[in-house]
Amino acid sequence: MPATPEIGMVVVQPTAFCNIACTYCYLPDRSNTHVIAQSTVTRLFEEIFASGWSCPELIVVWHAGEPLVVPVSFYEEAFAAIDRLRPANVVVKHSFQTNGMLIDADWCRLFKQWNVGVGVSLDGPRDLHDLHRKTRSGKGTFDKTIAGVRTLRENDVPFHVISVLSKASLGMPHDLLDFYISEGIDQVCFNVEESEGDHVSSLFHGPALRQRYAAFLRTFWHEARHSGRVRFVREIDLTLPRVFRPEGAPTRNIQVEPLAMLNVDSHGNVSSFSPELLGLKNETYGDYLLGNIRFQSMAEIRDACLASPLYRDISEGVRACSTSCDYFSVCGGGAPVNKLFENGSFTGTETSYCTLTQMVPTDLILEAYDRLEKGWAAAESPVINPLPPLPSGQTAAQPPRMP
Ligand code: SF4
Repeated sequence: MPATPEIGMVVVQPTAFCNIACTYCYLPDRSNTHVIAQSTVTRLFEEIFASGWSCPELIVVWHAGEPLVVPVSFYEEAFAAIDRLRPANVVVKHSFQTNGMLIDADWCRLFKQWNVGVGVSLDGPRDLHDLHRKTRSGKGTFDKTIAGVRTLRENDVPFHVISVLSKASLGMPHDLLDFYISEGIDQVCFNVEESEGDHVSSLFHGPALRQRYAAFLRTFWHEARHSGRVRFVREIDLTLPRVFRPEGAPTRNIQVEPLAMLNVDSHGNVSSFSPELLGLKNETYGDYLLGNIRFQSMAEIRDACLASPLYRDISEGVRACSTSCDYFSVCGGGAPVNKLFENGSFTGTETSYCTLTQMVPTDLILEAYDRLEKGWAAAESPVINPLPPLPSGQTAAQPPRMP
């Protein structure tokens, strides 16, 4: 752990309320319409910046509940206040994760003015999307979400989509790719439906899942590269620089470092580590909270974090990963929330989640690298390179740092 916290990401819940009711949603408080006060936002960033613990680039994610049910004017005021408080050596990058249904020209103006990162939750074509992403009365939400996506494109707002893969969509990589291309979607992230909170995934357990997901991702990645129409597949493109990195460069995992990821609910309650913990309860760890930013300083919250059973047990889990897992140098010890929900404890190691998010992408990248090397060695027919350009200063000819 660093000598002082290094805050890389702040996840702010402007409201717990969500305007729809997806069948796989784990948020327990999604009917609560309370909205975070501007004074709480101001106090939060005053404290962060005064602590000196912010990374040079601070990502602020407005998430957990549907952030766009809070009006544009709220964010105009909040962003301006944060910008006034920001030290000259810190860049703040705002981003939203939204269901996209409320996006209009006003939102696009805000996104462009503040260079906001926009992620839209869209599970694919209508039949796949409407399977789980439903209104409170049980109707599909595809029409409104795709209208939001088209509004973003009309207004030249860059965005990515996050698609939750269910039993049905895992067998449909071609259909998903065709759909993204037809809608001009060129940045894609996949989440496999997981068990969290009260939601129990129908998919997440089962010996065949790793193979099925690997087959899905391999096909999607290779065909996406061949098409030339998808420029970012998160599962591969964020894993690549972790696999191919300079000798000795450590991999950072902000979900296991104290306060590296600061999660704040609409009442000012602060948690750290996996953001999904905020709002949940557990016999051993209570409500996972470390303090409230309206009444406590960052130093007090840090002290509470370092003394907490939460930190102790998460650290033990990371240590166990470091001695037992071949993928540790790429992963850095996983996602605590998934260890807890899958294994019943933070102190364990492998989960279905880490198998899918860490092991499968790493294996696919090394598999592609191996194929490239064999192609070069044989120097027969040209090998189509499925790997995108590597980070600056590196080439695929460099030996990868293996997990
Ligand atoms: S891949 Fe899984 S078992 Fe390996 S380090 Fe990550 S969380 Fe631990």
